[in-house]
Amino acid sequence: MIISNLKSVRADISRLEQTYHRDTGSVALLAVSKRKPLSDVREAISAGQTAFGENYADEGAEKATALNDKNVDWHFIGHIQSNKTRLIARHYSWVQSVDRAKIIERLNSHRPGDLPPLNICIQVNIDDEASKSGCQPDQLPALARLTATKPNLVLRGIMAIPAPPESLQAQRRVFKNLQGIYKLLRAEFPTIDTLSMGMTADMEAAIAEGATMVRVGTAIFGKRD
Ligand SMILES: *Cc1c(COP(=O)(O)O)cnc(C)c1O
Repeated sequence: MIISNLKSVRADISRLEQTYHRDTGSVALLAVSKRKPLSDVREAISAGQTAFGENYADEGAEKATALNDKNVDWHFIGHIQSNKTRLIARHYSWVQSVDRAKIIERLNSHRPGDLPPLNICIQVNIDDEASKSGCQPDQLPALARLTATKPNLVLRGIMAIPAPPESLQAQRRVFKNLQGIYKLLRAEFPTIDTLSMGMTADMEAAIAEGATMVRVGTAIFGKRD
């Protein structure tokens, strides 16, 4: 099931790249495996998937340790508690949910020296009622600058989780706004190449508006309990 789901999500991404005049292969797929067993992750790996997203620091670290596969990248995409930064900096290669200065300082100091720099996306809260996570758009430049000064971090881009609006048009408006923020930031920071937006329910709108990475859980692994 997971293998055929993955095939169909990949086919959807290719079709949407064409429909919206995006370059072939310009939209990466992050498979969100939160609350799914390691056996599901292994199945996805057997179908060629190498990037996985997790929301709970311990759960993802356990999976990463059990799997012990250098070809697999683990992305932390959940709310970051400051007492988890050591664990996150050791077991993940990406952190997409950075939203405050204290977390940037801690991830930089906890990233082990024998590992490559940690890839960072700053999470932006684009429609503030929906969730409490993410920085306000006006805080983004300062957080980006701070990240860019850290030797053990690499600033890769921004991530957002908008409230899912009803229509494709309404979803596109929010994502278009994010794309504008992304382009401004990219003009200032040459290491930026990642606009992480779009999940199972709003992948089309995100790809239409320039997402370079979509984070898909349900369409690959099925509903979570
Ligand atoms: C759970 C989650 C996803 C995946 O959501 P689906 O609707 O299952 O595709 C993507 N991004 C984040 C940050 C998540 O927490």
